[in-house]
Amino acid sequence: MHKLIYLALLLLQCWTHIVMAQNIDKLVIAHRGASGYLPEHTLEAKVLAFAQGADFIEQDVVMTQDDQLVIFHDLTLQRTTDVATRFPGRAREDGSYYVIDFALAELRLLQVSEGFRLVNGVPVANYYGRFPVMTSSFGIHTLQQELELIQGMNHSTGKNVGIYPELKSPWFHHQHNKDIASAVLQVLKSYGYSNREAPIFLQSFDYAELVRVHDELMPALGMDLRLVQLIADNSWLETYALNQDGNWQPYDYSWMHTPEGLQTLTRIVDGIGPGLDMLVEPASQAGALELKPLLRDAHAAGLQVHAYTFRSDPGQLPAYAASFAQLLDIFCFTVGIDGVFTDFPDQVVEFLESRN
Ligand code: CA
Repeated sequence: MHKLIYLALLLLQCWTHIVMAQNIDKLVIAHRGASGYLPEHTLEAKVLAFAQGADFIEQDVVMTQDDQLVIFHDLTLQRTTDVATRFPGRAREDGSYYVIDFALAELRLLQVSEGFRLVNGVPVANYYGRFPVMTSSFGIHTLQQELELIQGMNHSTGKNVGIYPELKSPWFHHQHNKDIASAVLQVLKSYGYSNREAPIFLQSFDYAELVRVHDELMPALGMDLRLVQLIADNSWLETYALNQDGNWQPYDYSWMHTPEGLQTLTRIVDGIGPGLDMLVEPASQAGALELKPLLRDAHAAGLQVHAYTFRSDPGQLPAYAASFAQLLDIFCFTVGIDGVFTDFPDQVVEFLESRN
């Protein structure tokens, strides 16, 4: 009898351990690389993210005038490069310099910098504690170069760090007669990312394009990647879609916040990427968190939830979190997200290890 009780206790202990281990199995996704420390989307920022122990490294992908795929966050160049001084006169009427208006060889001439804005003509850092603006030497590279970098480091270290490419504004590329989704999928396939077991999530804010990727493009290429639907706030005007009259209209994301909408998404994607404010009411008070239903409903539908963006810069914490660790604690263990998009992979890795 005693033996049986002992055995039961032992099983319970093992089971508890397994459940706990699952609970802390959160994915650390390096948002634009270790972008809290080095200029976003540079190869250097990707190397640091790899060294800091990220599980996945993000690539935002934009197409050039000559149909090359480069790793760049914005559709425009002026926030993070010296384009305005290198190519004066190449701005559109709106004052912006668009990646899609430049050939790859031209983009390779640009100096990449930590993000800045001009104040009286002087570049001022958007995050003052980060890598100094317009210093050292960084450049723009292609999707292929980045995949070779990560696969090369996986080879030389024995790790298996994954990739997390984002199709940037496919609707905008379509407006310019460019099919960025097809081009990205073909490169991914040629580097061995073709099925659900491959260490990759392919993400986009553009639902119509994810449907096209899932229903048309991947089957035609014999691919079956895990997809993630990013969810934007309507006020950002992140995505446009063609309406029934053939006009481009701002996309309405409201339906993705309902149980029925999330059920609809399960046909196309494995997970969603919401902003933090979509999971916790931003006006919540410390100790009185107001959770929104999105996480619960997504999990009920069987979707993973990878939330963006966790930043530990001064002034970036919501009022309800006293520290970055507390913010992570709230989202990982009270809200219960499955993945953390962060500019500071080392701090998230350290936090998760401290809970292990
Ligand atoms: Ca992104």
